[in-house]
Amino acid sequence: MISSTYPSWVTAESLQKDDTAEHQAALNKLIIEVRAKLDTGIGQKILQEAWSSVTRHFFEGEPIFAAALLLRAGAKISPGDLKHLRKLAEKIEPPSVKNMNVGLCGPGRAQFMAALDSYKHGIPRNFCEPSCFCCGKTEVDTGRPPFSCKSCKDKGLEGWYCDRACQKKDWQQHKKTCGKPTGVTKAF
Ligand SMILES: [Zn+2]
Ligand SMILES: [Zn+2]
Repeated sequence: MISSTYPSWVTAESLQKDDTAEHQAALNKLIIEVRAKLDTGIGQKILQEAWSSVTRHFFEGEPIFAAALLLRAGAKISPGDLKHLRKLAEKIEPPSVKNMNVGLCGPGRAQFMAALDSYKHGIPRNFCEPSCFCCGKTEVDTGRPPFSCKSCKDKGLEGWYCDRACQKKDWQQHKKTCGKPTGVTKAF
């Protein structure tokens, strides 16, 4: 028996086979349903609540996580919010015990910025796709799959780049975590 929070057409079997065409179809249907709900004004409320929590809890990550939900569904985000989200993500400090912003700097930040750049209402953004550690773009943005940093690939780790220029530009950052399993590669 699976959780009643899933729509009836999501079966225990379809959840297990997460890379099948059947699962993809179920997921796409779910995303459309979630988007329709968010676009009734709920999405806007979630984001507003998250903005107010930045001052209440001093945690800047909350609007970013709320926006990631909206981006994942391709739900409505106002031009003003897109602008503010970009400013917020730009100034987030590296992770520390205090701010808990693990994943919201480096590759995670680039991934989020690229999602904001390519935002179109009705087009869901898949944060599971490999994204360039430097510019955050995915195959959807560039038209070709990113390649992996060799040292990371040899160790079964992630280190994605859309081209050599991005790899070169990011090296000063990436060399700190290259080949190390502790490196944060994604925000979501
Ligand atoms: Zn790139
Ligand atoms: Zn590497």
